Amino acid sequence: MNERETDVLVVGTGIAGLSAALAADQAGADVTLATKAERPEQASTWWAQGGIAVTRDDPEQFKQDILDASAGTADPEAVEVLVENATDTVSDVLVETVGIEFDTNGEGYDFGREAAHDEPRILHINAETGKHIHVPFLNYVADETDVTVLEGTAALELIRHEGRVYGAILERDGEWAPTFAGSTILATGGIGALYPRSTNPDTATGDGIAMAALAGAEVDDMEYVQFHPTACHTDSGTFLVSEAVRGEGGLLRNGDGERFMPEYHEDAELAPRDVVARAVKTEREQTGEVTLDVSDIDFEAEFPDLAEKCAEHGVDWETGIPIAPAQHFLCGGISVDDRGRTTLDNLYAVGECSRTGVHGANRLASTSLLEGLVWGQRAGEDAVGNEIERIEPPELLERDPDLPGNFARDKFRRLRRVMDEMVGIERTPSGLKRSQSVLRRLKGEVDAYVRTRTSRSLYELRSASVVSLLISRAAAENEQSVGCHYLVDEETVESPAEQ
Ligand SMILES: Cc1cc2nc3c(=O)[nH]c(=O)nc-3n(C[C@H](O)[C@H](O)[C@H](O)COP(=O)(O)OP(=O)(O)OC[C@H]3O[C@@H](n4cnc5c(N)ncnc54)[C@H](O)[C@@H]3O)c2cc1C
Repeated sequence: MNERETDVLVVGTGIAGLSAALAADQAGADVTLATKAERPEQASTWWAQGGIAVTRDDPEQFKQDILDASAGTADPEAVEVLVENATDTVSDVLVETVGIEFDTNGEGYDFGREAAHDEPRILHINAETGKHIHVPFLNYVADETDVTVLEGTAALELIRHEGRVYGAILERDGEWAPTFAGSTILATGGIGALYPRSTNPDTATGDGIAMAALAGAEVDDMEYVQFHPTACHTDSGTFLVSEAVRGEGGLLRNGDGERFMPEYHEDAELAPRDVVARAVKTEREQTGEVTLDVSDIDFEAEFPDLAEKCAEHGVDWETGIPIAPAQHFLCGGISVDDRGRTTLDNLYAVGECSRTGVHGANRLASTSLLEGLVWGQRAGEDAVGNEIERIEPPELLERDPDLPGNFARDKFRRLRRVMDEMVGIERTPSGLKRSQSVLRRLKGEVDAYVRTRTSRSLYELRSASVVSLLISRAAAENEQSVGCHYLVDEETVESPAEQ
């Protein structure tokens, strides 16, 4: 692994990192794009299904839908930036530059509709929009621009001194070296690995958020972890059943075969995600299971990819798809302004690891690809022109081959149990208090190893323990149930995760 210098270092190759790298390259910067991913599937972007929302005739209604979904907690100025740039950015970057062809229906784009959207405004490609965007975008940046792409390369630590960031320590194949950058843009995605059931790839360990927080950057809204109500868990894995299925008429039924959503919300199956997720959890607890009834839809024709996925996992969709909630998205993250600037000089954050204010306490479906694209472009442009300076980088210890093989796996298992049982869909004040003491202990154990050893799995575990603690602390400090943060009164029984 060589020491490097670059004008702009982007960490992460999801939609946000690609957008930032492209914008900085177009603005004339020398750009290095590092990702720990070995395959495109190791980014949430690849997995996105429903699509990317754009503005049609009524931008004001789009803004209102975002604000409503967030229970009025989204930042109106951030929402303005998102909506006002939506159509132009999607058109310039994805359609004109990368050449993505969204589905059409003979009269133009085949706009889809999802929960809590007032009208159909979602561009999609089947129900597998993510991979149809991600792969061509990756190829475009790698082949058609001057961006240097480093695959299988993880950022372990930021190089910082007194409120300024000078680059990051990058690691590949167990070797590491500093990369000094005029600007560093974190685009490391979400935190799914902190929960036992998540729609995210298991590489989503919250690295960017942890690195930024450890360097002293502000983070915000960490308690707002979104759970998707309709994930299908099978022995061969978890897959998401897109909101678009409910948008087209899919109905939720409990173990007694009864439709229940109208009792929970006037928008029934199309209510905001947090409402549906809690209802599904409750009905599963009370009646044993919840299924998504797709008998009123021409499922195979409308959702061929999902029908295929059901077949792959041995699920007979004709008798209803068994579903349960799963961790899906983090609304909060590293605090940034309208150009992705963090509270540290020369450090930017974009995409799911950032907190722009667009989502507040809850995210409207199909707005996160858009957020990553829009903020990626704005941060990429803004990051150009900062001078590269070298300082003494933090010293990492030589790799210690004696790190117990199961150490990271066992600690991860414990951490996930705590997050699931005490910092999940429903939380209690006492559970949150207990979660903090367990997580603090766990982080102490991990820190002790980090002081004497360096390895990627250990750093991922450190990220997960830092971010878990940030979430649980933020949740404990927020005494008001709003959006994805939902407090219940009853005491939880003493949990085995504490032991
Ligand atoms: C199943 C699923 C369906 C979804 N459907 C939709 C949808 O229809 N519409 C929508 O708008 N949103 C959807 N979302 C959410 C959306 O996909 C994500 O929020 C968005 O793609 C995040 O993009 P990102 O670029 O921030 O992160 P990601 O796409 O997750 O990319 C993160 C990148 O950072 C890299 N990385 C992480 N840590 C490090 C490190 N330490 N060093 C180097 N590289 C690192 C990863 O390898 C990866 O390349 C969905 C998400 C999932 C999981």
